[in-house]
Amino acid sequence: MSFVIPASPVASVPVLGTSDRFPVRRVYCVGRNYEEHAKEMGFTGREPPFFFLKPADALVVVDAGTTGSLPYPSLTQNFHHEIELVVAIGVGGRNIAAADAFKHIYGYAVGLDMTRRDLQNEMKKQGRPWCIGKAFDHGAPIGPITPAAQAGDVSQADIWLQVNGETRQSSTVAKLIWNIAETIEHLSAAWELAPGDLIYTGTPEGVSAVVRGDLLEGGVSGLGELKLRVA
Ligand code: MN
Repeated sequence: MSFVIPASPVASVPVLGTSDRFPVRRVYCVGRNYEEHAKEMGFTGREPPFFFLKPADALVVVDAGTTGSLPYPSLTQNFHHEIELVVAIGVGGRNIAAADAFKHIYGYAVGLDMTRRDLQNEMKKQGRPWCIGKAFDHGAPIGPITPAAQAGDVSQADIWLQVNGETRQSSTVAKLIWNIAETIEHLSAAWELAPGDLIYTGTPEGVSAVVRGDLLEGGVSGLGELKLRVA
């Protein structure tokens, strides 16, 4: 079989400790999953988890020890960083119980849920989908995946982000409102998960704008760092 136009390449992320890569199917994101971030966005922090998606080709893959380039997107004057723990699904399933969730995880990575906040806020106000604020090109930077066995327990890990050396976000994964297992339970009730799915689990408080030339350095303890410059 041949295609009538060039087929898009499969998005993929490097895996630490191997030259093989993790092929990406879908990119799910959890909204408002840390209480202090929910509050800074004007909410109480007590609500069921909700989800949105980004296209797999929005990933900006940054290899270990390198500084990626993050293009400043069109149409925004308020381009926000959201540092997040990313879960990589290795075994699919639907209606996965929280108690079984870890059997479905291949590994973890550090990611940024970049947001055109002004556009997102306008869409919220109008009751329209968030796509233009969240699912734009280059909107999902990610570092290498650490296999779960090497990562160990990430549930208490520190999570942080600096811009030009100044700390903007600093928290712990322990403060997730819906933890990793509960997130997988809820998500897999709404969509059938498959190998290659990524889940951006939400960001702690301290989100704010970046401009061209800014250096973003973020990390999750045990998973390394993610470094990009806004171009
Ligand atoms: Mn987010």
